[in-house]
Amino acid sequence: MKLSHTPVETIHIWLHKVYVKRDDLLHPEFSGNKARKFAYFLENDFPSVRRLIGYGSPQANSLYSLSALAKLKGWQLDYYVDHLPSYLTGHPSGNYRAALANGANIIDLSNVVDRDGLDCEGYIRQRVLTGSDEQLFVPEGGRCAFAEPGVSRLANEIAGWKVAEQLSELVVFLPSGTGTTALYLQKQFQTIDPSISVMTCAVVGGNDYLTKQFFELEQDESLHPHIVPAVKRYHFGKLYHDFYQIWHELKSTGIEFELLYDPLGWLCLKHLWQQGLDAPVLYLHQGGLLGNESMLPRYRRKFGELIPITVSE
Ligand SMILES: *Cc1c(COP(=O)(O)O)cnc(C)c1O
Repeated sequence: MKLSHTPVETIHIWLHKVYVKRDDLLHPEFSGNKARKFAYFLENDFPSVRRLIGYGSPQANSLYSLSALAKLKGWQLDYYVDHLPSYLTGHPSGNYRAALANGANIIDLSNVVDRDGLDCEGYIRQRVLTGSDEQLFVPEGGRCAFAEPGVSRLANEIAGWKVAEQLSELVVFLPSGTGTTALYLQKQFQTIDPSISVMTCAVVGGNDYLTKQFFELEQDESLHPHIVPAVKRYHFGKLYHDFYQIWHELKSTGIEFELLYDPLGWLCLKHLWQQGLDAPVLYLHQGGLLGNESMLPRYRRKFGELIPITVSE
């Protein structure tokens, strides 16, 4: 399976030209940055492994990507969640629905008797991992060194594209969760083409959380991406009218973006332009569109339909 060489498209928004790296088109069942992060597992042999073990939100893109990985490798996925909301078990949708269809075993820790106040990771480390090489444990969101080879390859693709386009500098912009993708991109660019810089924003937690994540993966601060502060604090997974509005404005580009990370990413990028950024920008589309299946109905219930607009300003 070839997980590389996604196209770069040019779009126009708010009177700016932006390149978009379409990593959402990586693979129909295994797209976006989780596929890049998990490429190492896909492309190497793990003859003893039978069971993939992960945890996180029951709506997470990484749940779906882990389920796709497990299916492709013939492994069982055991995915631990803190709590399974009844609206989701009653009406499965998005990543949760698709992961179940891939055969994922989703374990609700609010129902186990031996939990003893442990969080998901603690429970897995103390009660699930036996040290057997049949188990393969992936930390939440794929935040681990195994993500580096796949993300480095993405950096190489972008650097090769920049040479072909004869650009003398480039800003790669992407919204971050754990920051793993942004960090390993920046690290690789520093080696192969220091005229490319990575800018990101903290979608999960705040800037301090993101900085801390960077340090967990890389001690050398000079290899960390630049964090663009958000104009105001948004809480992960909550619904904001600003986000919904941005998402609608992005529709005019002809590319569908997702509703958790991309709205804040584009808001921060817009802000950078307002502050005078004028280097060419490549926005990394990190997939996650399956999540819109559950996010969009929530947005519609909260804010109604927005009237299609033509982008001005
Ligand atoms: C997981 C994810 C992110 C965050 O990636 P990190 O490497 O954890 O920063 C951003 N966008 C989408 C669509 C994702 O699925």
